[in-house]
Amino acid sequence: MYSYPGNIHIHSLHSDGSGTFEQIAAAAASAGVSFVIITDHETLHGLPEEGIRRGVVVLVGVELNRKFNHYLALGLTGTVPSDDEQPQEVIDRVQAGGALGFIAHPFEKGSPLIDGGRAYPWTRWPVNGFTGLEIWNYTSHWRGRASTVPEAIYWFLLNRKAAMDGPPPEALKLWDCYTGHGRRVVAIGGTDAHAARRRIGFIPVAIFPYRFLFRTINTYICLEEPLSGDFNLAKKQIYGALAEGSCFVSFDQLHSGQGFSFQAAGSMNQKRLSVPMGGAADYREGIELAAKSPFNRAVIRLLKNGRLIRRVDGPVLSCKAASPGAYRVEVYYRPLLGPPRPWIYSNPIYLRRGLSPLTCTT
Ligand SMILES: [Zn+2]
Ligand SMILES: [Zn+2]
Repeated sequence: MYSYPGNIHIHSLHSDGSGTFEQIAAAAASAGVSFVIITDHETLHGLPEEGIRRGVVVLVGVELNRKFNHYLALGLTGTVPSDDEQPQEVIDRVQAGGALGFIAHPFEKGSPLIDGGRAYPWTRWPVNGFTGLEIWNYTSHWRGRASTVPEAIYWFLLNRKAAMDGPPPEALKLWDCYTGHGRRVVAIGGTDAHAARRRIGFIPVAIFPYRFLFRTINTYICLEEPLSGDFNLAKKQIYGALAEGSCFVSFDQLHSGQGFSFQAAGSMNQKRLSVPMGGAADYREGIELAAKSPFNRAVIRLLKNGRLIRRVDGPVLSCKAASPGAYRVEVYYRPLLGPPRPWIYSNPIYLRRGLSPLTCTT
């Protein structure tokens, strides 16, 4: 498998971001990401600007809804109306348009210091028909931690890395509930990059510039073939991997997620069976799950339907799957000093024995 880092959920001058596509592509190239997905608010005006720029695949989606229930639609060819009050309608319209849909920052808390304390969480559960959840959103997460001025200064100036203390537990719980019932719900990470420009006196300041954010929470896609140099093929590969959950989320500010792997392997009728992240197979005895961290000082946690079943202090985990379920891996980065930090979140491998009734809600 080949893996490629990408940055998802970016705003440009087409809505409330500060950068042109060229500036965003330049920042992405310099940060080392292979693709970006720009999702301006309720507009696809950027669509004609899609392409490979500076070696980076630049894709255009849209962020639908305004007041709450923000929804990222990827792969639409024409606009779809928002409906803050009826988000299931929006999900259905996006699905009918043949596009992928991700619930954005579902448990956003906001900060009393920013934007009048406004937050944009998802308010209507249960919903169905969406591709996945944005489990970890850099800007949203940072805001949620900065509820007082000393906190904001500490997390912004002194210890940005530690501000990202893992995806909101509610998001993981909801994701695990869906996947534990055998539903493929794909987790992605985003940055909600705006690169807002402010002035402190006469000095212009960029709040979280694109280049900085493109080295924070990235989503890596995993492909069987290298990413194509042809734009249309590359677009297909990227959206195909995101649709199938052949991807993982990495907080790259700690360490690059490049080299992380997680798969299941077994044999059936003397044939070798290999299941990648996001893949599904009928459960049978003897299936081996294996995960590898690209950094040696790591703690790997294997979870089944959201419950921890194995923990390894080191870069390799291997374990037999004892029963059907959705298996996923979390990797914590162990710094020289201090506790391990949340770093990589794989998508699940689904070892199935029929579906059970779905009752996920908050
Ligand atoms: Zn949003
Ligand atoms: Zn946004």
